[in-house]
Amino acid sequence: MAPLPPSFSRLSRWLLPLLPAAQLLAALPALASSLGAWRITPQGDLELRTSPDVTPQAFYEAGGALRGPRVWIDLPGAPSRSRVVPGSGALKQVRIGRPDGQTTRLVLEFQPGTLLNPQSLRLVGTARDRWTMDFPGLDPGLMAMGEGDFDVATWRLPEPRTDGQTQAQFPTAGTPLSADGLPVVPRGRFRVVIDPGHGGPDPGAVGIGGLRETDVVLDVSLQLARLLQARGVDVVLTRTTEVDVDLPPRVALANASNADAFVSVHANALSMARPDVNGIETFYFEGGSSRSRALAAALQQQMLAISPGSPDRGVRTARFFVIRRTVMPSALVEMGFVTGSLDARRLADPNFRRRMAIALATGILTYLQGQR
Ligand SMILES: [Zn+2]
Repeated sequence: MAPLPPSFSRLSRWLLPLLPAAQLLAALPALASSLGAWRITPQGDLELRTSPDVTPQAFYEAGGALRGPRVWIDLPGAPSRSRVVPGSGALKQVRIGRPDGQTTRLVLEFQPGTLLNPQSLRLVGTARDRWTMDFPGLDPGLMAMGEGDFDVATWRLPEPRTDGQTQAQFPTAGTPLSADGLPVVPRGRFRVVIDPGHGGPDPGAVGIGGLRETDVVLDVSLQLARLLQARGVDVVLTRTTEVDVDLPPRVALANASNADAFVSVHANALSMARPDVNGIETFYFEGGSSRSRALAAALQQQMLAISPGSPDRGVRTARFFVIRRTVMPSALVEMGFVTGSLDARRLADPNFRRRMAIALATGILTYLQGQR
């Protein structure tokens, strides 16, 4: 192999080990693409439908004076033809190609000058065959578009009639993003109880625009449960619908479940006259499991990471019933104030609630990793 110029030294650290494998694979017969469908949702997120149990790899490449940043995702198997789909807004185009005859490469090429923070980009698995990536802070956002069907069992992408792009025009080097963002724990090893606060006749706090704590916490909790389940964590929910469950049965269910962690999900409230009060806080019970503080800290850190500008109210001790009486490591998160002007706007946004679920899942999985 010819020596690489010095500017490639950073790339070569991860690129070079891949080359021999790619050459080896080129000798094998081509597999059909494992990408079944892709779309930009009306909320501006990228969603993929893949063959079950494949692991897509996401990459990022910064833009230059003439070319915008690129995000691309590689999946096993190659499409028979490549194609270019024109974008709109911040997205210049979407390309789907076969860079090495064994890979499907889905490229989002953004307009020059588009600002993307690669630290905030995560391709997250939400089911065995579903992946999503959102683009926080992108202005203008992405417009809905896509190919293939998300709802029926025919999961092959439609093939274009002509080849839309030569192989050479697909990017080949960039920074790998985390495969799917969520930490990995051994499948089947852990059980977690998720406790969506309030419910039924008890709406919890009610805030700006009638935003109800119970709705926010149930939505986030159900998404959190799915994310953990996709990572092989057994999840027990204290409620799954708008029903009222008293506190003692929640604790009894948790204590009978032999779980590794208990997380109670809440949103804060103050007076409607105090929209200036916003912030994130997480509580644990000092007299409980010695590991509760680590769980609370992991959750707090992840919530703050997706809530810029919302004050850090800290990891604090408290004597709330559900964390005082549960026997496993336990924490109670307050995801923001439904009465706060900044937090309420976010908590009312389904997109933010999904990011919050990802943040809490990341916190829980990070904590569980430390328990192995
Ligand atoms: Zn509450």
